[in-house]
Amino acid sequence: MLSKAPPAGVYPKIGMGLTPLRFADGKPSQADNDKINENLPMHPRNHVDLSPFNTLALPGKAAAYQKITAPEQLAAPDLAKQNRFILGGGSNLVMTGDFDGLVLHMAIPGKRLVKEDAEAVYIESGAGENWHDFVQWTLQQGWPGLENLSLIPGTVGAAPIQNIGAYGLEVGECFHSLTAWDFEKQAFFPVDRSDCRFAYRDSIFKQEGWHLNGRMAITSVIFRLPKIWTPNNRYAELSNELAARDIAAPTPQDIASAIIAIRQRKLPDPAIIPNTGSFFHNPLVDQAQADALLAKFPALPRYPQPDGRVKLAAGWLIEQAGWKGKYLGPVGMYEKQALVLINRGGATGADVQRTMAAVQADVKAKFAVDLTPEPIFL
Ligand SMILES: Cc1cc2nc3c(=O)[nH]c(=O)nc-3n(C[C@H](O)[C@H](O)[C@H](O)COP(=O)(O)OP(=O)(O)OC[C@H]3O[C@@H](n4cnc5c(N)ncnc54)[C@H](O)[C@@H]3O)c2cc1C
Repeated sequence: MLSKAPPAGVYPKIGMGLTPLRFADGKPSQADNDKINENLPMHPRNHVDLSPFNTLALPGKAAAYQKITAPEQLAAPDLAKQNRFILGGGSNLVMTGDFDGLVLHMAIPGKRLVKEDAEAVYIESGAGENWHDFVQWTLQQGWPGLENLSLIPGTVGAAPIQNIGAYGLEVGECFHSLTAWDFEKQAFFPVDRSDCRFAYRDSIFKQEGWHLNGRMAITSVIFRLPKIWTPNNRYAELSNELAARDIAAPTPQDIASAIIAIRQRKLPDPAIIPNTGSFFHNPLVDQAQADALLAKFPALPRYPQPDGRVKLAAGWLIEQAGWKGKYLGPVGMYEKQALVLINRGGATGADVQRTMAAVQADVKAKFAVDLTPEPIFL
């Protein structure tokens, strides 16, 4: 168990992100800004190629493109009138072609301790912060709780959209609230955890289509991290890795470094092999269908859910359908992990859609199960 008080003297006023986040000395760190600004144009531009900004490296131009580094920029009346797409790290995105609208690339920086009470610390981050760097920063500050989500690509602002999850933790479990800009009402508004309807890779933001037409932009997120920490190492792959490292009583850093090592072994680095991580959701079926499948396929992995349904492993279904390491042109399912769709080079959105449809059809034919893609299509 671990409990650590936050450092003294860093309690800025609670601002719910209505103003750009600032550090205790009132300034964003230069290193932070440099990192976020790297490779991003500073001013609104037309016909911007988005292939460097999506981890599948798919081509597609935005008719207009603007980097957002402060929440106030969103209030410019011009933005509300346009067809919009809100872009984070592009790690859950399939570009299907050019986008005839305005892409707002979220790069709002800043992270800080907002407040603490007897049980927890509350940490706020700008939407444009890199998720993995933010998690490592919380650990360095002595605020554990997010370590199981280490090395997930993307930005902090996108994390609540699909309730990112890995190794026995979903971000919704540590989420406190967020601030978003409503383009229609021209106002910032707070969203609490109880409003978010977090579920497996799902939330109100997806359910109500925030992500489809850029209706709202998340500008900052606050996490609640309990001061009493217990390791979340129930996930078999994680506990095996810790055992292999001879670690019986892991620290938060031990868990983060074990997860980073597992992920680096298992998942292709998008900078080398373009991908979006798991391409399909693990499907949920009813008990009767799970029983029928089990009778036919005794090795079927299955995970009973509290609501009575059964979760199946999409990667196993894809592998059994013959798609592990199989390609249609430049796009196929990764040879080391059948759930990951990869671009071997030069693929377009149409190539991705062709392979996706072929995988879905083969899994449906063999198991009568529908696979739903995880990424957003633009
Ligand atoms: C190698 C790899 C591994 C991955 N592993 C995991 C994993 O273990 N678990 C997991 O859950 N996911 C995983 N993912 C998927 C991805 O990392 C997450 O979904 C991540 O949260 C996407 O963040 P992003 O900033 O890249 O979002 P983007 O891809 O840019 O956008 C995703 C959606 O969120 C919307 N959005 C983004 N930012 C904002 C904002 N500020 N306000 C409003 N809407 C916004 C976009 O409009 C879009 O609809 C993985 C991806 C890769 C490439």
